[in-house]
Amino acid sequence: MTELRIGAAVAARIEETYEPNFKAAKFFPDWDEAVAEEHREWLAPDHYDPASGMLKLSIHSWLLTVGGKRILIDACVGNHKPRAMRPMWNMMDTPYLERLEAAGARPEQIDMVMCTHLHVDHIGWNTRLENGRWVPTFPNARYVFSKEDYEHYLAIDRDPQKGPATLGAFRDSILPVVEAGLAQMVSGATALDESLSVEPAPGHTPGTIAIHLESRGQRALFCGDILHHALQVYHPEWNSAACADTVNARASRRKALEHCAGGALLMPAHFGAPFACRIEGRGGAFRPRF
Ligand SMILES: [Zn+2]
Repeated sequence: MTELRIGAAVAARIEETYEPNFKAAKFFPDWDEAVAEEHREWLAPDHYDPASGMLKLSIHSWLLTVGGKRILIDACVGNHKPRAMRPMWNMMDTPYLERLEAAGARPEQIDMVMCTHLHVDHIGWNTRLENGRWVPTFPNARYVFSKEDYEHYLAIDRDPQKGPATLGAFRDSILPVVEAGLAQMVSGATALDESLSVEPAPGHTPGTIAIHLESRGQRALFCGDILHHALQVYHPEWNSAACADTVNARASRRKALEHCAGGALLMPAHFGAPFACRIEGRGGAFRPRF
């Protein structure tokens, strides 16, 4: 298990899946074989599978222990969820909760769940199936959601032409949490406690938030899908095909990299092993230091 220390905080990676999963050329409209070739030394096998042309995007959560609290950052895809539109995520059955427990947290011990945005692969474990109903997996947690994302996907979900939103995940992984009264909607820069704060980072989704951790003078940035893949450190202009607003997505990505070049550890949601990195920045260019 990957475990990182940031000041007095410990962040443990909770894996859901880690395998070649997205065609690189489809995932990144700007994908360039010459760039893959240039970086081949570190890309394979942890970040890219050259034989299939597939990216290897890890799907994981970070379990953060700080100030006596257990905080789950991003909630993967989840088990038993019907996702017919995306077969690899359809009716999944992984030992995610067992891994979480092995890392030191039973579901009832989670104090806070934070979703960087409300896409299907960041909210799934918010709920689990119990007697045919979707109920909050973490009954004692407050769930921090972006108000902008919530309102955006609620409008899509209610529109018979466009819904259900996020492959159905909005209905089975967000609404039950809201109905249980466990959701805390945040908008704008918000301090959550003495070590955690969020700030808007729109682009990938309208309400994407960057999560900042500071503990004993050390800092980390949980970036969700502001960056998906380590190649975007070298090419911050590369958006994923799933980035809603291409201009803002690039601006938020550059801002996150500049922040991390100033000393914060980058804690991505999908980078391959070793899953987190430092960022070196010089003259507007960046490189990851694993
Ligand atoms: Zn994602």
